[in-house]
Amino acid sequence: MKGKRLTATAAAALALTVAAAGTAATGAFSSSKQDPTERAVAAALKAKGPKNVIFLLGDGMGTQEITAARYYQGVRSPLNVDRMPFTGFDTSWSVKPAAAAPYPPDYDPDSASTGTAWATGQKTIDERISQGPSSAENVPGPNLTTVLELAQRRGMRVGDVSTAEITDATPAVLASHMSLRGCQGPANMGACPTETKGAGGLGSIAEQEVDHHVDVLLGGGRARFEQTIGGGPFAGQTVVQSALAQGYRYVTDADGLSTVGPDQPVLGLFNAGNMSLEWSGPAASVGKGNTPAPCKEGVRPPNEPSLAAMTRRAIDLLDARKNRNGFFLQVEGASIDKQDHATNACGQIGETVAFDRAIGVALDYQEAHPDTLVVVTADHSHTSQIVGEDASGSGLPTGYSTNLTTRDGQTLSLTYGTAGFGGEAGKGPVAVPPSQQHTGGAVPVWASGPGGLAVLGTNDHTDLFGVLGG
Ligand code: MG
Ligand code: ZN
Repeated sequence: MKGKRLTATAAAALALTVAAAGTAATGAFSSSKQDPTERAVAAALKAKGPKNVIFLLGDGMGTQEITAARYYQGVRSPLNVDRMPFTGFDTSWSVKPAAAAPYPPDYDPDSASTGTAWATGQKTIDERISQGPSSAENVPGPNLTTVLELAQRRGMRVGDVSTAEITDATPAVLASHMSLRGCQGPANMGACPTETKGAGGLGSIAEQEVDHHVDVLLGGGRARFEQTIGGGPFAGQTVVQSALAQGYRYVTDADGLSTVGPDQPVLGLFNAGNMSLEWSGPAASVGKGNTPAPCKEGVRPPNEPSLAAMTRRAIDLLDARKNRNGFFLQVEGASIDKQDHATNACGQIGETVAFDRAIGVALDYQEAHPDTLVVVTADHSHTSQIVGEDASGSGLPTGYSTNLTTRDGQTLSLTYGTAGFGGEAGKGPVAVPPSQQHTGGAVPVWASGPGGLAVLGTNDHTDLFGVLGG
């Protein structure tokens, strides 16, 4: 994959081009009348490499998902992501198992292979966590060095934040290596028998995340960490106990998170499974769908911190150590994907809006710390489609649909049609929609700050590795 960090020569050449274009267009490129994008380009060209890197991704947040959130909350109300000056596209394909390279492309990837792409710069097969491809899913591939491991080697502080179980595929790619994404806790290792500590392996994803001494680990997945380790130096202890023995502070609610300081690594697990959703709303139904209704907002229990609150706290903790080597932080809005699978339009949109608030936190920090690179993307596209509100007759959508009343007072119709009806052939739809599928469309990438120009154009998710410090 091509290196995505701009060389000094390329940057200088681009600077001349941009300056010339700016002079022609405005007569004074460096004047105070520059528009914000021109100012951002000029600053990005002048900057050295970033000191801090904040990488945020909405799982399954393709162009339809972010547009649905944009339209729901009002077409004239910009999102935080709209503050970011540089935008491009990334392809997200993974590869299929094969006896040897070249591995054939798989156009519809999952979160494990796409996360491995930016975490390691390498293509791998679906289900796989920062290991290379192999002949079959259950044959482990070689462990690949991750961008978080490289940041640690440079003395940077590192953080990993998600609304999913923190052992789920997207957070897992930074600080673990595993043949199958399901091997999340010590009791979940049945499909990965050669990778347990007892077998001489690195242990489950939960064990590896703790053993990596990630400075800030915040999300769900408490039940995985309450499982008992079967081998190695912490055999017979839970993963939480192993974390405490390795110097972690452990918290389980929003109040606990507010009391932690930067003097210890922090493990915050705020739900036994995935964290609770921000919004609820009408269920999807086949064809035209429900009478339009608004979403119900603010349904997350207050003892679970919001993604924005976790992001703010993570930045505070990583920055407060006054480490001159800076920090690397990944933040995932995980349940955009999970609610897209579940045809839950309000759940999906609420999580997208919550993710955008976390982007706002990162951008506010960046305004005060211009040596920070902020990159936003999605791992892969997903199923929801914005369709005509007045569909009738042959124009009816064929999948599961939901009609929402937006803040503009209009009807937003979303349909989900990548998984059929779930029933037997010829027997019509089932009451509970089947899990919808990911889609293969290229995803948007946004960036702001030093190094951010590298996302311009059409690239591949493996190119993000270099952008993020690989
Ligand atoms: Mg994910
Ligand atoms: Zn998914």
